[in-house]
Amino acid sequence: MAMVVTQPCIGCKDKACLPVCPVECFHEDDAMVYIDPDECIDCGACVPECPTEAIFYEDNVPDQWKSFIELNAAKSAESPSAHD
Ligand code: SF4
Repeated sequence: MAMVVTQPCIGCKDKACLPVCPVECFHEDDAMVYIDPDECIDCGACVPECPTEAIFYEDNVPDQWKSFIELNAAKSAESPSAHD
């Protein structure tokens, strides 16, 4: 299980979520940031920091954004760390 970044993140790039992540598991591309599900420890620290309320626990991702669960895993594997 992991947290998942969803649709409202697209175009935001505020990145207020990044400094609070204890395991630095965010990745990014031109569109948004993603959480690596293999590294996220479900601490929840990033959730209240997100200005667009885009981050959900995997089990609580709204139906219309379920595709972001796989997208976060795939994009984390191919995109650079957002913490560099
Ligand atoms: Fe990082 Fe915690 Fe958010 Fe997972 S839940 S991405 S470990 S801050």
